[in-house]
Amino acid sequence: MSCRASPWSRPSLPAGPRFPTSARPRFPLGSRNLWRNPILKNSWTLGAGVSNMFALPSRLFSCMASSGSGDGGFARPTSTDEAVAPLPLYSWPDKQRPRVCILGGGFGGLYTALRLESLVWPSDKKPQVVLVDQSDRFVFKPMLYELLSGEVDVWEIAPYFTELLKNTSVQFVRDSVKLLRPSDHFRREPGEPCTGGVVHLESGTVIEYDWLVLALGAEAKIDVVPGSAEYALPFTTLDEALRVESKMKMLERKRFGKSTPAIEVAIVGLGYSGVELAATISERLKNTGTVKAINVQTTICPTAPQGNRDVAVKVLESRNIQLFLGYFVSCIKEASASDDSSSTVTDSEVDGDHNKLILDLQPAERGLKGQTLEADLVLWTVGSTSQIPRLQPPDAPNVIPLNGRGQVETEETLQVKGHPRTFAIGDSAALRDPSGKLLPATAQVAFQQADFAGWNLWAAINDRPLLPFRFQNLGEMMTLGRNDAAITASFIDGLTLEGPLGHAARKLVYCLRMPTDEHRVKVGISWFTKTAIDSLASVQNAVANSFPLPTPMGDDSTTNHSSPAAAAMDPDSEVVFDFPPYICQYKSGRVHRPGGAPTVPAGTDPATGVVSKDIRAGPASVRVYLPPGATGKIPVVVYFHGGGFVVGSPARPGTHNYLNDLVARSGAIGVSAYYRLAPEHKLPAAYDDAWAALRWAATLGDGAEPWLLDHADLSRVFLAGCSAGANIAHNTAVRASAPGALPDGVALRGLALVHPYFTGSEAVGGEAGFGPEIRGFMDRTWRFVVSETVGLGDPRVNPFVDDTARKASAGIPCERVLVCIAENDFLLKERGLWYHREIKANGYAGELEEIFESKGVGHAFHFDMLDSEQGVELQERLVAFIKK
Ligand SMILES: Cc1cc2nc3c(=O)[nH]c(=O)nc-3n(C[C@H](O)[C@H](O)[C@H](O)COP(=O)(O)OP(=O)(O)OC[C@H]3O[C@@H](n4cnc5c(N)ncnc54)[C@H](O)[C@@H]3O)c2cc1C
Repeated sequence: MSCRASPWSRPSLPAGPRFPTSARPRFPLGSRNLWRNPILKNSWTLGAGVSNMFALPSRLFSCMASSGSGDGGFARPTSTDEAVAPLPLYSWPDKQRPRVCILGGGFGGLYTALRLESLVWPSDKKPQVVLVDQSDRFVFKPMLYELLSGEVDVWEIAPYFTELLKNTSVQFVRDSVKLLRPSDHFRREPGEPCTGGVVHLESGTVIEYDWLVLALGAEAKIDVVPGSAEYALPFTTLDEALRVESKMKMLERKRFGKSTPAIEVAIVGLGYSGVELAATISERLKNTGTVKAINVQTTICPTAPQGNRDVAVKVLESRNIQLFLGYFVSCIKEASASDDSSSTVTDSEVDGDHNKLILDLQPAERGLKGQTLEADLVLWTVGSTSQIPRLQPPDAPNVIPLNGRGQVETEETLQVKGHPRTFAIGDSAALRDPSGKLLPATAQVAFQQADFAGWNLWAAINDRPLLPFRFQNLGEMMTLGRNDAAITASFIDGLTLEGPLGHAARKLVYCLRMPTDEHRVKVGISWFTKTAIDSLASVQNAVANSFPLPTPMGDDSTTNHSSPAAAAMDPDSEVVFDFPPYICQYKSGRVHRPGGAPTVPAGTDPATGVVSKDIRAGPASVRVYLPPGATGKIPVVVYFHGGGFVVGSPARPGTHNYLNDLVARSGAIGVSAYYRLAPEHKLPAAYDDAWAALRWAATLGDGAEPWLLDHADLSRVFLAGCSAGANIAHNTAVRASAPGALPDGVALRGLALVHPYFTGSEAVGGEAGFGPEIRGFMDRTWRFVVSETVGLGDPRVNPFVDDTARKASAGIPCERVLVCIAENDFLLKERGLWYHREIKANGYAGELEEIFESKGVGHAFHFDMLDSEQGVELQERLVAFIKK
């Protein structure tokens, strides 16, 4: 096709090599008539005099598979020529308007397309734009880590191009770029044809263009040391991230329910990517595994601003991460079956799904000794490589100028050196800043370059001067887990945002950076909703910070007072009530819950596949859990967390993990109740909320909760709780015995009380050894959490105190009762034994299961030791109770 005559499409071409006769596409894809005659267009073949650079052997046609959308399409050949088959030619919708081909739909390519779309064009000059990408999704790479932490859904960070471009005139072609044949470096005589060149796609399709944008990014360079390509996984694309996620899940499932062996993940490289992965994975593994992070340098993230590095070091040091600094990995291999050092190899070989890997570490620093590490999974974050060198035609290599890293050298205008119609941006391009420093391969650079590339295309097409690109460093951000991040803004010297604030700020910035208004809004709403639901828990938790449940009284902690700092902040710092380590109240009425643990949002639990959501349940709220692959009707466990009625929440990490585990093992639906906490909301507020949660479950969420509607077997409802939660479970069961309290057909199949919080004014069993201070403390704390009470004679905390209480307690409408105690639960063990004795003695008509004692552990140990032998035993006991 000849050059479009319009002057706007033809910038003055610099002097350069003359177009070689053999390759000169005088009418490279046929004559102008080709466009006018669809039959000709579709049956186009190469003439003998035309270079066969556009032809492929006909056998290759059988595997062509390109797709277009909208007006754009392909001219499919019909020739049956056996020797040289014609190539399908991408058919531009308009014969006159300039044709812009963008290769790669990442931060560079997609945002250039959107920028071109947003500019105001003279009506006859608006270019037709085709965007080619091998994938059907744009990937917001900086948030790939959040797929591992479960914070984002795939659609949020990897929307489909067709969705993003549906309201634009940009055509999307899913195909792989195979070969680049630019022709804009040839010097032409005036009037000679001047297309920008052609691109060959993997499917065989050829796209002829006037303007080209190269934005193919970079891919992980993995074939670096022996074994790295076979055994290590990269983490640079959506597919790679999903592969890592599925490998993690596989390891977690394999270990699920066992206390050993620990999952070992090795991360090679501690630049940004390695540090972010180490932080994310270590947070996910918690105490179920270890991250081994290896870096050739003796520092992490050497190019990061000091503030970010300091925050990252702090976070990494606080996690289960072993750092191997000053080492390089020289080889990765599979542990041999005979290698005794790898206990899991034999297991895994039986399973056939994974073997331990061995990493040989060589010292990169003097004084260090070589090491050998074991890992179940190796993630490789070192090095990347540009695609461009491979796309150069073998008969004319290096037509496109490349630097030593294979990136395309560009002018400041982002035009490829010597190629006025080709722009290159993003990771596959090389541009130096005025100080001579190569711009980093970051989304920030690609994003800003896209803006300039769009503008400069507009300028070139409209014969205006092109602008030199100037990178504006806005700062750097890194994620360090679900609630942690480090952000350094370049425009505020020395400021580093960290922790939850940094995390929220990073998410906000990324939300604003999402492509298209529509997607931005969708993601914004989605994240806001998730955050709002999470906040429901956080608000309560912010007030009622999560703490371990009571420690034995009488130890030194009972005399502990609130921190001097907290006291100093209070205008009236006299402590009127101290319930260490949970809470203290000042004379002013201010309540202080020192310290605190982060809440975890509901969502999919990567380890078990259990899904959860927070939802309003009448006047209360609940976190509901559904086991993976739930089919048919399954039991419902209504659960009440502990915390002395003053702290705790379903969103507390320990409680949330516990529920995920219980639900996965038992195959039941979990309904974990958010209840109001004392002293702001004294009892019976918590009892009322608990009752609302049970009523809600028993009415299938007022007939509107799909998980309950589909799966809840209301003839198998269980009440369960730990410590104060067990007290609540018992009192809820008592309330359920009132006639008509629960809808017809709802049966309370069981009541499970773990380390229940009951007390009384008379010592029972081994409590005889308690000093008077213990009884006084129990009395004070009970009075602190309840609005009106007679003290320790209150049947709500002393369920067998008198005949009425005994009758009510023994009359609970639960078919079975299970009581669990802990050997070292100094304060409450005797009350568990007592409850078990008394309920039987007072004529409980149901089935009282044998008491279950966990040996060598204390009160509510299982929230921190879920994977311990005793934790698993306790959980299995409860599961058996539910499944019976
Ligand atoms: C895990 C991770 C985290 C990151 N975090 C940050 C961060 O926090 N901040 C930051 O600034 N940068 C970050 N980066 C870097 C940033 O993502 C890249 O610099 C940026 O994506 C580069 O944009 P690009 O358009 O050049 O390439 P890409 O975004 O990689 O896009 C290239 C596109 O080209 C397509 N493509 C490649 N080859 C072909 C082919 N042969 N045919 C057709 N299509 C092809 C790909 O499918 C892809 O869609 C991160 C990168 C990764 C991998």
